[in-house]
Amino acid sequence: MGKIFSFCNQKGGVGKTTTAINVAAGISERGFKILLIDLDPQGNATSGLGIDKNSCKSTSYELILSDIGAQDVILKTEFANIDLIPATTALAGAEVELVSQYGREFILRNKLESVRSQYDFIFIDCPPSLGLLTINALVASDAIMVPLQCEYYALEGLGQLLSTFNLIRERLNEKLDIGGVILNLADFRTNLTNQVIEEVKNYFGDKVFDTIVPRSIRVSEAPSFGKPAVFYDRYNKGSLAYLAVAKEFIEMYQPKKQPESQRETALS
Ligand code: ADP
Ligand code: MG
Repeated sequence: MGKIFSFCNQKGGVGKTTTAINVAAGISERGFKILLIDLDPQGNATSGLGIDKNSCKSTSYELILSDIGAQDVILKTEFANIDLIPATTALAGAEVELVSQYGREFILRNKLESVRSQYDFIFIDCPPSLGLLTINALVASDAIMVPLQCEYYALEGLGQLLSTFNLIRERLNEKLDIGGVILNLADFRTNLTNQVIEEVKNYFGDKVFDTIVPRSIRVSEAPSFGKPAVFYDRYNKGSLAYLAVAKEFIEMYQPKKQPESQRETALS
């Protein structure tokens, strides 16, 4: 059964999409099979994996707001072991349309049941808000991954995220856990970065990944080539950090069995 992780922070620009894509890439090359779900109307995870948004007929919008099954919205990407449920701007309407849906918080969780066993991990790239799309992601997830930007206001707004997390645990998904906090966009030349790292570690303790991802031009260029940075340019400091994050991730969450691609028998 694939473990489901939501990459979540209601702030934009902290690295949710970049982290989801690059950790997915790093673990995919170890033979694990990943489904990445783009749940942000901006569709950055979709274009970042080389999929043309204009060519997507069935997306996460149809998945959530029509009778279509997950199997019918999954696309193969050009990258081995990474499948995608894409998103386009149509998804922006979902936030409002969901309000009147029966069992609106559970739609994504129910839809993913049928495909979960085909993957080692399912990553959900959340939008920068704590609305019904993010709630659907959290209800469907085993754990949240929180990317934080190493800047002065890194912890600002986290109270809101954590109270949403607690509310979901109390009322909708008691197994939801904090999978990890990943510090991104570090600039080690500044004292501020080191102060923020210190502060975040005091707050989240051992939930913080040891590897801190530095700011890197190559990481920011990669989406325009439709590739995860670790495939676009493996040896820059940003990609190397993401590969190290992926290694930590696998050490923590490695499925007990062999990777999907090396299995001969179907998972139960
Ligand atoms: P979010 O999904 O939280 O809105 P993104 O992953 O889209 O954030 O990142 C915001 C911007 O910062 C993007 O342009 C992305 O390419 C860039 N970015 C993210 N991480 C890094 C990094 N380590 N180095 C350089 N640029 C980065
Ligand atoms: Mg994003």
